[in-house]
Formats: sequence, C-alpha cells, structure tokens
Amino acid sequence: MENLAKDIDEILITEEELKQKIKELGSQITKDYEGKKLMLVGVLKGAVMFMADLSRCIDLPLSLDFMAVSSYGSSTHSSGIVKIIKDLDISIEGKDVLIVEDIIDSGLTLSYLRKTLLGRKPKSLKICTILDKPERREADVKVDYVGFKIPDKFVVGYGLDFDEKYRNLPFIGVLKPELYS
Ligand code: 5GP
Ligand code: MG
Ligand code: MG
Repeated sequence: MENLAKDIDEILITEEELKQKIKELGSQITKDYEGKKLMLVGVLKGAVMFMADLSRCIDLPLSLDFMAVSSYGSSTHSSGIVKIIKDLDISIEGKDVLIVEDIIDSGLTLSYLRKTLLGRKPKSLKICTILDKPERREADVKVDYVGFKIPDKFVVGYGLDFDEKYRNLPFIGVLKPELYS
C-alpha cells in the first residue's frame, strides 16, 4: 500500500490492532448469541470490510444482509434525514439482529436505522461498530459493541472513504490536510 499510504498523515489504528480487536469482538458476540437466531445487518458501503472480518470471527450459525442508506447533509456531517437506498432482502422478524457499522459520529444515521428496524419486530436489536467518536454525539443511541473510541478527526481506510477513495486501505488513518481542499 505504498502509493496510497503517501496520502496519509497519521495511522490511528494498524492492521494488526484491527485484527486483534475483531477477534475479541467475535468471541464476545459468539458467547452472547449462543442459541439465538443471529442476523448481521451491515450498512453499506463503509461496513463491508468490518462485516467480512467480524462474521468470520463469530463461531455460530448466522445470516447476514446489507442495507444502503444515504444521509442528507455535507460530506463530513450528516443531517439525520436518512433515505434507504437499498433495503434488506431477508426478513428480520423474530431474529436477533446485530447492526454492523463502520463508525458512529453524530449517531443520527444509526438512530434512524434503529427506529426503522425496530418497527419490523426483530426479537432483539443491538449495535456493533468498529469506530466510535463519542465527542461528536448528537443523538442518544446506545452502542453495544465498540472496537475503538477515536478522537474527533476525519478518518479513512478499512471501508471508510473520502470522496469514495481510500476504502481499501487495510488500516485506519488520517488524510493529509492538503487533500481535503
Ligand atoms: P452519523 O450519522 O453517525 O453522524 O454518521 C455516520 C456516517 O458518517 C458513517 O457511517 C460514515 O459514513 C460517515 N462518517 C462519520 N465520520 C467519519 C469519518 O471520520 N470518516 C469517514 N470516512 N466517514 C465518516
Ligand atoms: Mg456507516
Ligand atoms: Mg462516506
């Protein structure tokens, strides 16, 4: 990743740290969901890498599906008005649903998603995110599994983009400031 890494100012979380943390999350989820009807719901596109890695660290039968949402607002701050671009294919009724997210920032997207999914009568609904920026929270949303708490910086990599790029970086980093302008 020498070419892409040139655009990065600082690595916040290394590939190795991600791997280790996801193993721990997977073990915890395996314990918590034994005997349940686990269904993972990934939020496109940011959560794709996390979903792929996390699901392979959960030693239980499970189903998984994806949703795509768009939140109106600027590219770095969401408005809380969310539109479903791609809905789930599988019904969540009676399932023990775990939402898999890349990052919780204001919490507005997740707050909307949570309400929408609760209306479809899952048996339970919990949230798992690889990154959390608690300083930026606007909506009061309970997050059940958190990988890393990070400071209020715009990050890319491991699924997270800037202008649709950098999702394929294997680590989480901060872009060089000159790339934003
Ligand atoms: P929220 O509704 O919690 O403010 O927004 C969550 C969404 O905003 C995330 O799923 C992600 O798409 C985007 N987002 C929030 N913070 C960052 C960040 O630091 N980097 C990137 N690339 N996207 C972010
Ligand atoms: Mg997301
Ligand atoms: Mg984005």
